[in-house]
Amino acid sequence: MIPVDHPFWTVLLGVFGALFGSFLNVVVYRLPLGLSVVRPGSRCGACGTAIAPWNNVPVLSWLLLRGRAACCGAPFSVRYPLVEAATTGLSVALWLRFAMPFGGEPPTTPVALAGWALTFTFACVLLAVALIDLDTLRIPDVLSLPLIPLGILAAWAIGPAIHVTVEQSLLGLLIGGGTLLVITYGYFALTGREGMGLGDYRLMAGVGAWLGWQSLLFLLMASAIQGLIFAAIVKLFRLERHLPGLDDPDPVGFRDPEAAAPVPPPESAEAQPAAPLQEVDAVPPAAPQGARPAAAPPLAVPFGPFIALAALEWLLFEPTLMQLLDHWLYGGLAR
Ligand SMILES: [Zn+2]
Repeated sequence: MIPVDHPFWTVLLGVFGALFGSFLNVVVYRLPLGLSVVRPGSRCGACGTAIAPWNNVPVLSWLLLRGRAACCGAPFSVRYPLVEAATTGLSVALWLRFAMPFGGEPPTTPVALAGWALTFTFACVLLAVALIDLDTLRIPDVLSLPLIPLGILAAWAIGPAIHVTVEQSLLGLLIGGGTLLVITYGYFALTGREGMGLGDYRLMAGVGAWLGWQSLLFLLMASAIQGLIFAAIVKLFRLERHLPGLDDPDPVGFRDPEAAAPVPPPESAEAQPAAPLQEVDAVPPAAPQGARPAAAPPLAVPFGPFIALAALEWLLFEPTLMQLLDHWLYGGLAR
C-alpha cells in the first residue's frame, strides 16, 4: 500500500473532497424540498437542462462560466464553489491531521484512512446542516440524528486519535443534548417565544457524542459568541434582506417557489400539552410587522450553523483548544 505520508493521498482526497462538495450542494438544495438526492443527475435549476459533466467540475466550472449556467445563462450562487472549496480544504486538513499527527507516531495507511473517512463524514454533515438551517431555519433529523450512533462508533473505533473515549462520548451526548433541551424549553416558558428549534438539541446531542463532554463548554461559548457576532453584523449593515431563509425564501436564485413557500409551522413547544406552557400560550406570540407568516421574528438567526461551526473548529483544532480549556478550567480532569 502507498505509504501514509505520500502526497498521492493528499491529492486524491483533495479531489474527492471537491467532488463530494458538488454532491453536498445537491443535498443542501434538494433535501429540504423532499427530492431525491441521487436522481436525476445535476440539472440547471432555472431551465431544467441536464448539466454536462465538463460543466460540472467543482469550483473550476463556476469560475470558467463566471457564475452563469452554460445552458441558459441563469446566475449560479457563489455559494456553490465556496462549498466545494470548503469540502476540499476539510478533506485535506482532516487527512493531514490523521496521517501526520503532531508529536505522534504516524499511523498505518488503513488506520489513517478510517479516521479520515469517519471525520470527513462528520464534517460534511455539519456543513450540510449549517447551510440547510440557514436556508430554511430547520435541521433535518435525517442528517442530525445519525450523528449520534456515528459519534459513539467513532469514539470506539478511532477514539485515541480524536481524543474521545466511549464514556466521554456518551456523556457528551447526554449533557450536550440535555443542556440545549433545557435551554429551549426554559426560554419558551419564560418568554413565550421560541428561541431555538428542537432540531438544535438533537444536533447538539450528535455533536456531543462525536466530540465528548469535554468539548461542550467550548461549543456552547463559541457558538453563542459567533452567533451574536453574526447577528450584530447583520443588524449593523442591515443585511437582513440578504439573510437566506428570512426575507428571501430562494437563496440559490431558482428554487421552485411552490415547493419552498409553505414553510410548515415550527415544531414549537406550543403544541406540547405541558401545563406550564399553556399559560404563556394564552398570549399569542407578537407578530412582527411586515414579516412573512410562519417565519421567525425579523432577526431570527438560526443557531444550528453556529453549533456546526464551533464543532468544526473543535474537530480541527481540538489539541490546542483542549490544552487551553484543560489548563484553565478542568484542571486536568479530562485527561
Ligand atoms: Zn439553464
